[in-house]
Amino acid sequence: MGVGSCPRCGAEYERLAQHWAMSSRCSYPPIPGSVKQLLVGVLMGDGTIHSPSSTKNVRLEVTNINKTFLEWLDEKLSWLSNGVALKRTAMQIREENRKSNYDRFSSLNYEIRDQYVLTTARHPELNEFEEWYTNQQKRFPDKLRLSPRILKAWYVCDGNLIWGNKGHTRPQVWISVENESDRPGYVNSLFEPTPIDPKFNGGRLMLTSDETEWFFDYVGAPPSGFEYKFVTGSKEEYQSSKREFYTNSTTQTK
Ligand SMILES: [Zn+2]
Repeated sequence: MGVGSCPRCGAEYERLAQHWAMSSRCSYPPIPGSVKQLLVGVLMGDGTIHSPSSTKNVRLEVTNINKTFLEWLDEKLSWLSNGVALKRTAMQIREENRKSNYDRFSSLNYEIRDQYVLTTARHPELNEFEEWYTNQQKRFPDKLRLSPRILKAWYVCDGNLIWGNKGHTRPQVWISVENESDRPGYVNSLFEPTPIDPKFNGGRLMLTSDETEWFFDYVGAPPSGFEYKFVTGSKEEYQSSKREFYTNSTTQTK
């Protein structure tokens, strides 16, 4: 949360970023490298950048049904986060879907959960993320390369563990990359620093079962709230962990 005492002048503020924007003595502390990597990974996934023309600096927003994960992220971002809030209730989402005739959603009632949003403070260092948007579409920058922290944050947003049917007992990591489906060579180059070289097809990265093991060695322990996406022991274990996730980390306002 962005509430607390300023490391420069020691005074208490409700919104530190506002203090740094207004003050002539104090200014924004730099964003720590580890936090920056987390933001890059999240922006590759569910994050979006907001840059109304009336303000100087941009902010990042992350929308997700996983309240536990957003609270974990809030803690990691520390003073850079303005906190987590309810964005839309499951009931509102269902109502909006009904109005826009998304019939296909009616069969997924179980998946309709309340949506939460984490908003960061506006910070000059976040302005570089504006480059990611060309013609309203999100595009990853050419210089981007993955690290364990970036890949992990991206995976929990846009990736899934896929279990085949009978006989095939080892899971595979899939990551959706629709926004870069026309640049397969580029998507593969992102993985140069990693131990894997996944197949990219139809806007989706598909890791083999072996690569999936190397992937989890590389990225390390799961962030709070997304433990189920790291359960590789058996399909049963995975499914029970996913049920726990819906119970413990999401809410559903009827
Ligand atoms: Zn200050």
